[in-house]
Amino acid sequence: MTSKTILTIVGARPQFIKAAAVSRALRAAPDLSEILIHTGQHFDEMMSEVFFDELDIPRPHQNLAIHGGSHGAMTGQMLEGIERVLLEHRPDWVLVYGDTNSTLAGALAAVKLQIPVVHVEAGLRSFNRRMPEEINRVLTDHVSTLLLSPTRAGVDNLRTEGIVDGVHQVGDVMYDAMLHAQKRSRETSAILRRLDIAEGGFVLSTVHRAENTDDPVRLQRVMAAITDAAGGLPVILPLHPRTRQAIARSGTETGGIRMIDPVGYLDMVRLLDACALVLTDSGGLQKEAYFARRPCITLRDETEWTETIAHGWNRLWTSSDWLPRSDIEDYGTGHAAEAVIASIRQAM
Ligand code: UDP
Repeated sequence: MTSKTILTIVGARPQFIKAAAVSRALRAAPDLSEILIHTGQHFDEMMSEVFFDELDIPRPHQNLAIHGGSHGAMTGQMLEGIERVLLEHRPDWVLVYGDTNSTLAGALAAVKLQIPVVHVEAGLRSFNRRMPEEINRVLTDHVSTLLLSPTRAGVDNLRTEGIVDGVHQVGDVMYDAMLHAQKRSRETSAILRRLDIAEGGFVLSTVHRAENTDDPVRLQRVMAAITDAAGGLPVILPLHPRTRQAIARSGTETGGIRMIDPVGYLDMVRLLDACALVLTDSGGLQKEAYFARRPCITLRDETEWTETIAHGWNRLWTSSDWLPRSDIEDYGTGHAAEAVIASIRQAM
């Protein structure tokens, strides 16, 4: 049996978590081998290294060390760096995750060399083109050969844009990752003790979207909304470097919110498991709140994860109503990574 090579591009925190699930499944596939390339988009210890250590992700074959700068400069450098890597390795497929500049650069570099692209987390849409992530998603989907969507809504969005070939609903690889980490996190994480917080006695929050951090007035409103929604419970907020800089720059008043450094995934899963409520603008966290069966208020004016709202686990901060709660089937049963591999095999 000749082995086919998949070259995976990762660069940002949520991609490391998705890659943990898919790389594990790839390593179990005798007919496939993986070359992992890190663009360097997220680079500090707690935004990158910790995930490789904790989640047994293979060391990247190469780290392009590209970070900072404008969107154009960063994406352009990545395009050039990834093209070089692709010419060197000549993989059979390129695999990209989600919606970052690393995703778009990976997809574009590959398709220009006529290497087919598989996009994991295809079809997600906020319908807000002011979001850099939305531009990255739309463009990546339109050059991908295999579009693997976690949700029915994603498949429907692609159909609306005329994309039907190569589209499969596979479930959510982030659910696989969380199931895999949950038991270990309960056994090993000391985060509750370290922060001196009680099970069920705190609110977990994250803020990092440019739409919330770039405008000081908006950022102040977000902080006030967090304090208000927490209703007197302590708030733990692991701070994304972008938000830390924005708060420092603008002098935003953060009241009693307890800001901590970003935490590793095992600690994050423990915090999700133990919190009373999630307040976030993160895509991943909205779903993880559901995986942990915790209610979530999304600090944005729209969401790509519409099923979390439809099934009553999430609401936007612009609305005060929760719909009746029920289980969400879209995310699968913890075997989305296997479905990704099966779809790639089928397409080869
Ligand atoms: N996360 C983490 N530590 C943190 C904050 C987030 O491990 O301090 C995890 C979180 O549980 C989720 C992922 O990082 O799995 C989400 O990443 P992020 O919010 O940066 O990106 P998004 O999901 O919005 O694309």
